[in-house]
Amino acid sequence: MAQDALAQDAEDRAGRVRWPGKAGAVVCVTIHVDGPAVEAGRGQNALGIHSRGRYALRRGIHRYLEMLDRHGVKATFFCCGYDAEHWPEPFFAIQRAGHEIAAHGYQHEGFDLGDREPELLEKTHRILAGFGQEPVGWCSPSGRKSRLTLPTLRRLGYIYDASEKDEDIPYLLEDGFMILPNNTVSLDDFPMYFTGGASAAEVERNFVQEFDAALHRDGYVHLTVHPRAGGGSGTPARAGAVDRFLAHAKATPGTRFMTCRDLAEYCLSEPSRWKEPRA
Ligand SMILES: [Zn+2]
Repeated sequence: MAQDALAQDAEDRAGRVRWPGKAGAVVCVTIHVDGPAVEAGRGQNALGIHSRGRYALRRGIHRYLEMLDRHGVKATFFCCGYDAEHWPEPFFAIQRAGHEIAAHGYQHEGFDLGDREPELLEKTHRILAGFGQEPVGWCSPSGRKSRLTLPTLRRLGYIYDASEKDEDIPYLLEDGFMILPNNTVSLDDFPMYFTGGASAAEVERNFVQEFDAALHRDGYVHLTVHPRAGGGSGTPARAGAVDRFLAHAKATPGTRFMTCRDLAEYCLSEPSRWKEPRA
């Protein structure tokens, strides 16, 4: 992009992005629980090599609840209906701690479900609503969406989708649905550990670098972590990396932590500010 275009781009954003309380950065901490639903959805017996999802329910969720409580941070937990249906206790603990419960498929479906999709979205919605509050947010387990996805979510009362990877800031679709983009390249633990073979120290450094860079740009930081074993940050050293990242963000003046729901509602309170510039 030419210098003039870059300057115009920055000016457009400066006029558009205004965070609550004049915060310099908004941090959405999203915990993708991804329990045994992942293995069940693949037809695998969730034992042995495939027991990493069980770790999320036994250890990971509780480790993150303690960490978030210690930092005074409210997070968004993206949950699979199957996990919450079969092992409800950890999900009641999430609800009791005041975090947001949002939807993440029934068995972490990462493929086109065809005409079955609305039924599964509704099923997961009913299960998650049973923890006290109807979910209003969804994140696709694979980034995949079909022509049925958003119309079904809108009918169920959802206000945001956190599946896209195509912007640095939230934006509004023409029909009034908020998109809260995530960054699955460098603010998501899974690819760095699973395919990148990174160490916890490298992931921590990467998260901090992304946060510091966002401070000098638009100030939107959408962190994705998984409390699983394996390609996630459930285990102690990897959870420690997230813990130190939260401490770094918290110690930075002007940082505001928000759940995705609170951020979507904030954006929708002044929708004209968030219209997609390149619709
Ligand atoms: Zn997931």
